[in-house]
Amino acid sequence: MHPPSLPDRSIEAYAAVTDDERLEHLRELAATLGEARILHVNSTATGGGVAELLRSIVPVCRDLGLEDNWLVMDASDDFFEVTKAMHNGLQGSGSPLTEEMKATYHDVNEQNAAELERTYDVVVIHDPQPLGMIESIREAMPEAAIVWRCHIDLTDPVEAYLTFVADAARRADHAIFSRAAYGEAIDGPPASVIHPSIDPLAAKNRSLDEEAVTAECDRLDPLSFDAPLLTQVSRFDPWKDQFGTLEIYRRARESIPDLQLALVGGMAGDDPEGLELYEQVAEEAVEDPNVHVLTDLPDQGVNVLQRRSDVVVQKSLREGFGLVVSEALWKRTPVVGSSVGGIPLQIEDGQNGYLVEPDDVSTAAGRVVTLLEDDERRATFGANAREHVREHFLLPRQLAELLEVFLEVLDLDP
Ligand code: UDP
Repeated sequence: MHPPSLPDRSIEAYAAVTDDERLEHLRELAATLGEARILHVNSTATGGGVAELLRSIVPVCRDLGLEDNWLVMDASDDFFEVTKAMHNGLQGSGSPLTEEMKATYHDVNEQNAAELERTYDVVVIHDPQPLGMIESIREAMPEAAIVWRCHIDLTDPVEAYLTFVADAARRADHAIFSRAAYGEAIDGPPASVIHPSIDPLAAKNRSLDEEAVTAECDRLDPLSFDAPLLTQVSRFDPWKDQFGTLEIYRRARESIPDLQLALVGGMAGDDPEGLELYEQVAEEAVEDPNVHVLTDLPDQGVNVLQRRSDVVVQKSLREGFGLVVSEALWKRTPVVGSSVGGIPLQIEDGQNGYLVEPDDVSTAAGRVVTLLEDDERRATFGANAREHVREHFLLPRQLAELLEVFLEVLDLDP
């Protein structure tokens, strides 16, 4: 396992985006936790929402005086093939779960757990990839409280995968789900619900001066910011349905002929399907000069695109939460998104964007056109969007709820 590099964060700086009471509450929680040693374990340092969350939460906790650590599993492609199949199976599709896959999963988990050199008071296992470590962690540190933080939508899983993961999850002391419905399928340990959040001070979300925005826009040439722009930012993953987004764009272009589409996508280190899907999407897009498939954009580039797009689309078929939705809303860009997973928590239909059924590209295209043709509506939705995210989906709120769970599992009085 290895520790990823982390940015600096200061809790004081969050006063610019949230109220003092929330920050004071965080300081009190951290003081009560005192010297508790906390470890987060996940399977990638970059790409995807979990890495995004940890990259902010860990340094903020450290600034609050906590001993917070993050280790990323070391694993081969074989392991990631298995865990991606597991991810797909938990979301309702995919190949059978074989004994060989289970053996690969357990071997890699045991090897990684064996590398843990220190003892912790709370170990947070993110998603199913490191869940197979629980037994080894329990043996090495019998006093530690083990929390499973599940970021995946478990409402319609393939049974074999659910059973496999539920068996492991039952060994945790506590589970955290992103929505209450996700935990219903698992007869596991006591559970909490915590909605994820974005970090308003991260390079991806912080406010930018005009000069920085212009420089970044120039780098995105031949994309034009003088013509209407629709964007989706997502890993290249079948669940994000980039082909559906292309279809929405094509239908919307019938009403808005100069419409452009940006499909922004990165490859997560633990997702072996990304490259193949990227190639398929790029091949389909190459015929249309107004479709831009952009990979490996720096965070500031993603920031500018979400900020300067007229409408953002999130056409997911399943979505644990979908940080990208709050990222766009925070930048006052309305979002047309599928009514799946965590997206309806973030989009208030007709207030800051529109919710559509995941297979209804026709309605989605209509909603996109409605927004593109109405500057005033976009501005109103954008203002609503900013406040909705400020109230519900910024880091201080999520962190407070997480620290409250730590207090609970350590039996400390808040
Ligand atoms: N992301 C990025 N560049 C990309 C694609 C995605 O930085 O090209 C980021 C995106 O901004 C968000 C995260 O990856 O912060 C994706 O999190 P989300 O919860 O939306 O989806 P997940 O990938 O975890 O399913």
